[in-house]
Amino acid sequence: MDVRKGVEVSGIVQGVGFRPYVYRLANELRLTGSITNTSAGVAIEIQGALEAVENFLARLPAEAPPLARITGVAVRDLLPDHDEGFQILASRAGEERRVLISPDVAVCADCLRELFDPADRRYHYPFINCTNCGPRYTIVRDIPYDRARTSMAVFRMCQECQREYDDPLNRRFHAQPNACWECGPGVELWDNRGQRLAARDPIAEAAARLRAGMIVAIKGLGGFHLAADATNTRAVECLRERKRRVEKPFAIMAPTLQAIERFCPVDEPARLLLLSPERPIVLLPKRADIPVADAVAPRNRYLGVFLPYTPLHHLLFAEGCFAALVMTSGNISEEPIVIGNEEAVRRLGELADFLLVHNRDILLRSDDSVLRVVGGRARQLRRSRGYVPVPVFLREEVPPILAVGGELKNTLCLTRGRHAFLSQHIGDLENLESYRFFEEAAGHLQRILEVEPRLLAYDLHPYYFSTRWALAHTDLECVGVQHHHAHVASCMAENHLQGQVIGFALDGTGYGTDGQIWGGEVLVADYREFTRAAHLAYIPMPGGAAAIHEPWRMALSYLAQHFGRDFLGFQIPFVRQLEGGRVEVLLRMLAQKVNSPLTSSCGRLFDAVAALAGVRQSVNYEAQAAIELEMLIDDADRGAPYPLAVIEDGDAWLLDTRPLFEALVRDLGQGVPAGAISRRFHQGLVEALARVAELLRARTALNRVCLSGGTFQNVYLLEHLERRLRSESFEVFTHAEVPPGDGGLCLGQALVAAHRVQ
Ligand SMILES: [Zn+2]
Ligand SMILES: [Zn+2]
Ligand SMILES: [Zn+2]
Repeated sequence: MDVRKGVEVSGIVQGVGFRPYVYRLANELRLTGSITNTSAGVAIEIQGALEAVENFLARLPAEAPPLARITGVAVRDLLPDHDEGFQILASRAGEERRVLISPDVAVCADCLRELFDPADRRYHYPFINCTNCGPRYTIVRDIPYDRARTSMAVFRMCQECQREYDDPLNRRFHAQPNACWECGPGVELWDNRGQRLAARDPIAEAAARLRAGMIVAIKGLGGFHLAADATNTRAVECLRERKRRVEKPFAIMAPTLQAIERFCPVDEPARLLLLSPERPIVLLPKRADIPVADAVAPRNRYLGVFLPYTPLHHLLFAEGCFAALVMTSGNISEEPIVIGNEEAVRRLGELADFLLVHNRDILLRSDDSVLRVVGGRARQLRRSRGYVPVPVFLREEVPPILAVGGELKNTLCLTRGRHAFLSQHIGDLENLESYRFFEEAAGHLQRILEVEPRLLAYDLHPYYFSTRWALAHTDLECVGVQHHHAHVASCMAENHLQGQVIGFALDGTGYGTDGQIWGGEVLVADYREFTRAAHLAYIPMPGGAAAIHEPWRMALSYLAQHFGRDFLGFQIPFVRQLEGGRVEVLLRMLAQKVNSPLTSSCGRLFDAVAALAGVRQSVNYEAQAAIELEMLIDDADRGAPYPLAVIEDGDAWLLDTRPLFEALVRDLGQGVPAGAISRRFHQGLVEALARVAELLRARTALNRVCLSGGTFQNVYLLEHLERRLRSESFEVFTHAEVPPGDGGLCLGQALVAAHRVQ
């Protein structure tokens, strides 16, 4: 007696070889029926002997293709029917669009083998792909995911490609970007005015120019890279000059894992991450005396490294025999990455000597993702290509919400049921191009997910572009969410927490409910509400935003606050190098409270310590002083941590930095080196925060602590604070899936908004 079952599978099951997989499984078990793509995923009907059907249902999720991500399997009984074997039916466009689109995937091992096989018809074809690899998200216009709705629609498959595409047993069955030399996109080498060069092999020609020390803009998966030979100091310095990127580290791409191991020690979690189909940039400790130019990552102990992920990258390395290439986003400073060919000539023409372009359009820009391994876990620093649009899975359903994020490192979040879809990295909204990208990404997410948000969640800062954009949408209910509350909620959300937690939210800048600039915050929070349980004592920022760019201003402000004018007599290098005139101006500003907004920012405290320790007086990228201070930490130092006083202030506590600066000034007077100062400062902060956690636990009986905010990109602080809190039996929760900084803010905003309206 036959049984028949209807099986609905949801998740990422389209464009990943799922239907041929089911076809093979059904044939192997001698079952009949059909499978079709739906807007929710796939729908299967399966019929045969009970035992075989049960076997099928057990194996279905267990043996699914590597790129499939199943989020639900619903099975129901059907009446037996008559089938002609097992069939793959045409897609039907449904009402609901619950299907998840796969992110872009690095070229697979099978395609790579063919790429370098002279007998293969795709030998050296730079766009080789199959159902297990290739572009996805960045070429999709709409769903269901079919060739007609991608930027491959303009290429008509040749007979041979079509045959592969139609054959359920072929690796390229319904591989939407399927193409070959005969029918698919091609590569051209252009000069920087957009003139095509008559090159027989444009990739080999581009490699030759890179070898000669030139800069080539290369069109990739989610946008253009600017490439330069990483071992050529002159080329790297030239790239810095043209890109107006003075010191912020560049990432480098190396041909193989072995090549990377020559630059950086690679442990097992890092190895898995580097080789994963997402192929992110991974930050790894840098070995001494490597052939990579110092200008790649000056004054940094880490190197951002990644492996080739498109066939074109592999061909470029095969041609050029490079030890490593700088591959940095094709843009000027913080503008969005360039995706179009004409746009590349216009915007990158002055940065690059040549452009290696192709005619497969990138529909959605997506920068490389950046991760690092801390405590054995991969942690997102910039969640973009390879990860977007895989959702963050939530503990419970939320209403449809669009959360618009912050101002810097902006990302968006759109929720649907138990899924939170974060956009790719958008960038700093203060520039117009990024703002346009923000609007574009918001529209695209809503379209491909077919979600009409009922609520908008935004940051309380009245001047953020994202805030103003949200408030201009008068047709929707808008929920303002305090910046640090959003950070803590973001950490809670990815860890599936409910109820109240102690939240440490440490960062540079976030608008407080009292109108001041917050950033060294300890909250007691759930998703709905928070109280500010403790914070760093306020300090004026002389010159406002100028104090962010010039850490010495913060050092001066702290000295003036704690020691009055007496500090001018301190026998320490920082004071000796101050320019009298500017100092008097600043002191007057502080005394008269002019253009000196108050802040409790943890980032500004790091800045002040870095400036005093002689690490950096002005910065040219965000958090540079804090990062360089961390890089200097001398682990061998055994000096006492710099103490902070925890003072009761009504219902809350204030973290007073006076004892910290007294100890610091004493050390500076005795010539203690910066590495030791840095360690004592970090340790002092750990002690003070652990103390606050103890006090709060005694008061509230809460035992769970969430660590969030950009300051927790500081590995030393994260590891030591986490260890310290665990040793006191706290349960500690940190970020992994979304960045701890403002790139993860939107997730928290969405969750707070969801709970405010319920
Ligand atoms: Zn492949
Ligand atoms: Zn073809
Ligand atoms: Zn923040």
